[in-house]
Amino acid sequence: MAETGTVFLVGAGPGDLGLITFRARELIAAADVLVYDYLVHPDLVDWCQPGCEIVYVGKKAGFHAVPQSEIEALLVDRAKAGKQVVRLKGGDPYVFGRGGEEARTLAADGIRFEVVPGVTASLAAGAYAGIPLTQRNTSSSLVLVTGHEDPNKHELQVDWAKLGGLRNTTLAIYMGMSRLPDIMTGLQDGGLDPATPVAVVQWASLGRQRSLTGTVATVADAVTEAGLKAPAIIIVGEVVRHQETVDWFEQLSLFGRRVAITRTREGNSGLRAKLEHLGAEVIELPLINVVPDVDPTLLVEIFSELGTYDWIVFTSAHGVKVFFEQVMRAYADIRALGLLRFACVGDATAREIEKYHLKVECRPEAATAEALADALIATDSLDSAKVVVVTGNLNRDTLVAKLEQEGRAIVDLLPLYRTEKLDLSEHPAAHDFRDKGADAVLFASSSAAEAYAAQGDSLKLGPTATVPQCGSMGPQTSASLRELGLAVDFEAAAPGLDELVTALVTHLND
Ligand code: SAH
Repeated sequence: MAETGTVFLVGAGPGDLGLITFRARELIAAADVLVYDYLVHPDLVDWCQPGCEIVYVGKKAGFHAVPQSEIEALLVDRAKAGKQVVRLKGGDPYVFGRGGEEARTLAADGIRFEVVPGVTASLAAGAYAGIPLTQRNTSSSLVLVTGHEDPNKHELQVDWAKLGGLRNTTLAIYMGMSRLPDIMTGLQDGGLDPATPVAVVQWASLGRQRSLTGTVATVADAVTEAGLKAPAIIIVGEVVRHQETVDWFEQLSLFGRRVAITRTREGNSGLRAKLEHLGAEVIELPLINVVPDVDPTLLVEIFSELGTYDWIVFTSAHGVKVFFEQVMRAYADIRALGLLRFACVGDATAREIEKYHLKVECRPEAATAEALADALIATDSLDSAKVVVVTGNLNRDTLVAKLEQEGRAIVDLLPLYRTEKLDLSEHPAAHDFRDKGADAVLFASSSAAEAYAAQGDSLKLGPTATVPQCGSMGPQTSASLRELGLAVDFEAAAPGLDELVTALVTHLND
């Protein structure tokens, strides 16, 4: 029988991916089974290793997608099968997360478990809505309390009147939105001044955060009017007054904007981070998947003559990575490359080559295959030269044809990876995009535009979705977008992620 696995009850934090712990990330990446819920950021799923079993047990306020007993049975079952199980919960697992119940069940079944704390929602609500939760002279205690969204549950009742009688206290109320008027009345019954300030923070820490402030007397009506709903934290106390002076997050230039970005072989985590740092809600569409695909016979053939080539050409950072992995596996010595000269296209590709302390001698200004071929031809070193082009399975024909015909080089192709279209029909990010649309969608390359268009119905917007403005990295990408029948609403002043983000901010805020 398999050795019993371990269950990790892991806090995923309030939503923003940066607020998850290192330990959580490490455990997700190593998990055999990931069980996660509604309040957990869906992109965390992308950190899982291939083959990880991913189970969504999402709950939304008011109804439970999977009953608690079934979740617990699932954890026990997978652990007994010898799996490493990560049970991810929004915020902290032991703060109104039923983590305690799950831990008890595991303990009773003799299953090993660990608990990884997370940033609980009230802390994020304070930080991201500009409300320090304690303050030396006015607020010396902080009460985390549940407002019981489900009146059918037989749970301990909170004595709101008693809480209303506390002085110098901040209340952080979880799950209180559907009973907000009752809660505010209860606090006043206990003697809380109706003029005490209250803030409501929905989706704290995320680009879709919304907040409002009022008083104990007025906040319930204000929430109804503004349409704020769960998940939200209600903060009651004098500390709310500080928001006017110390709010920072909601002031950011892309706060409240939904921006879709595409993930392609160029990668884009840099773009995502830049947008999120400006307060945007980012929807990352993983359009394609890059898988290593090495033909061993061809590899041996080319590697045995590696020293005889004049130039080696890379078209992506991914190609560089896989190439060096193979070189190191075969030779364990960088000198196997002899006096090869390096050519490449794109910043990320050049950076990857330079990591090995190798100089890139030829790199065109524009990040296109044509420009690369032209730049190489312009070196006047191609006639009868031996060139090896390391690529994937896309966008290589023009490059090779040009080098052979115009440059009169002898070109060998070394494909090391394959780019596959991902089926997005079931992906949560695509679902969100179809449902709500976005204020903008950014295309960082022609291949991103092509991969986006190739998705067809998987990215077709629903009737009430916001139609996004299309932003492009530069003339080349714009040309591809137009060819594909997509609009170009704004373009970066020069190719570069910062320039693309600047163009977006200008376009949306005009
Ligand atoms: N274990 C979680 C709480 C789960 S109870 C934690 O430690 O944060 C669910 C409640 O948490 C929601 O009804 C809401 O009150 C609150 N919540 C969770 N994430 C939130 C967020 N990003 N913004 C505001 N409230 C949030």
